[in-house]
Amino acid sequence: MAVNPSVSLPAHSGFSEGGSYTVISPVTGRPVTEVGLASAAETDAAIERAAAAFPSWRAVNPGDRARLLRRFATVVEEHIDELAELEVANAGHTIGNARWEAGNVRDVLNYYSAAPERLFGRQIPVPGGLDVTFLEPIGVVGIIVPWNFPMPIAGWGFGPALAAGNTVVLKPAEVTPLTALRLGELALEAGLPEGVFTVIPGKGSVVGQRFVDHPAVRKVCFTGSTAVGKNLMAGAATQVKRVTLELGGKNANIIFADSDLEKAALAAPGAAFDNSGQDCCARSRVLVEASVYEKFLSLLEPAVTGMSVGDPADPATDMGPLISAGHLDSVIGYSASAQIAFSAANGGGTAETAGGFWHPPMVALPRGANDPIWTEEVFGPVLAVMPFRDEAEAIALANDTEYGLSGSIYTRDIGRALRVARAVDSGNLSVNSHSSVRYWTPFGGFKQSGLGRELGPEAPNSFTEVKNVFISHD
Ligand code: NAP
Ligand code: MG
Repeated sequence: MAVNPSVSLPAHSGFSEGGSYTVISPVTGRPVTEVGLASAAETDAAIERAAAAFPSWRAVNPGDRARLLRRFATVVEEHIDELAELEVANAGHTIGNARWEAGNVRDVLNYYSAAPERLFGRQIPVPGGLDVTFLEPIGVVGIIVPWNFPMPIAGWGFGPALAAGNTVVLKPAEVTPLTALRLGELALEAGLPEGVFTVIPGKGSVVGQRFVDHPAVRKVCFTGSTAVGKNLMAGAATQVKRVTLELGGKNANIIFADSDLEKAALAAPGAAFDNSGQDCCARSRVLVEASVYEKFLSLLEPAVTGMSVGDPADPATDMGPLISAGHLDSVIGYSASAQIAFSAANGGGTAETAGGFWHPPMVALPRGANDPIWTEEVFGPVLAVMPFRDEAEAIALANDTEYGLSGSIYTRDIGRALRVARAVDSGNLSVNSHSSVRYWTPFGGFKQSGLGRELGPEAPNSFTEVKNVFISHD
């Protein structure tokens, strides 16, 4: 069991005036380590160091900035096992997922290391002179990370932000600070100058709030709940501070009768239960064409009941625990009042892990389109299945939500795949697959799932301001 990780835990965070947080293992419910938290004053001091580091970081020549980011990627690569073990210990992620997540940070750094030499402006024809645009870095960027994917979401922010010439202050979620702290140390080891990338563990209401309020932070990149994101956007408005928001989702997996039903049924659990369903892209609403609804459920049942829930450090495990006792209570609040059709036989808890935060994967049959299990983001391993009559009803049901992050469409009819993909109001759709996040394609939400896009070739641009300069011929 991932109770005593073989890696050494980051000893200190460099902060202490905001008290300390006891990191709890989701596997056992027992303490892992203590992390010092930053106070508002310590946060301000770190922001001011980042502001002081900005002029020289933006002036590093593009080839050298690229080299430093590639070196950072290499150092992350050399520590993938350590970072993965830290995430198993801190967040209870399965070891395979945790290795992928650390590898994603490496890949994102390598991808955006190509950006400094390619931050192209434009030359625009004008009479009487030359007109050119520059993409100027913004200054200090504050990145606020949730607990569900501590490493990737951090990297999606700091990779392109640093590449574009900004300095970064990053607040991990209070419950998952360990990998972020280690990444901060690895950045220094790779040769990034002090103050260019600073990880500041602490409370959202303290550290996160200073990112919103401190005038030296010129952009806030927030991933988390829609409720906190709305408040943050309102707070940022007082300084017209730039924001990117990546918020919640209640994503539809639409399965048509003409699809490869076996393939769709085998893929549906992974799409909903990966990371124990704590994924804003989880396909937690499955819509099935009425004529194959019963058959789909009969194919889905063994794929769910046979899932292996347990020790995340065991490579054979499909699903680990939830992040915290509070979050487990919240998920049980939904599952206990839902109409459950079937669930995994093995719920994860053993004598050794009795104090952990276990919830088996479950399939619910909503009592109607207003059932909370159908409308609300559970952020846990409960998926809901509902039948639909025809293509128009499938689209209407899929769009009957304030969210619009991701979704999937299973059909062999290419025309229908395209029609439905264009009609579903979501930022990330996949056909006959559940893939949604590749670092080299854009990611983000429609409607209340977010504002702006991360990743993809344009991500560094969103950490810049466009400056237009006209030079007269005379
Ligand atoms: P959350 O409560 O919104 O927290 C997210 C981050 O914001 C944490 O670092 C949190 O700090 C911080 N925060 C809290 N209050 C703040 C404030 N007043 N000012 C500034 N920062 C503040 O969300 P969560 O419960 O950690 O994560 C689950 C939610 O995130 C789900 O709704 C999920 O859909 C969403 N999510 C979305 C995406 C996406 O890409 N769209 C990805 C992952 C998660 P503390 O740790 O101290 O609370
Ligand atoms: Mg929260």
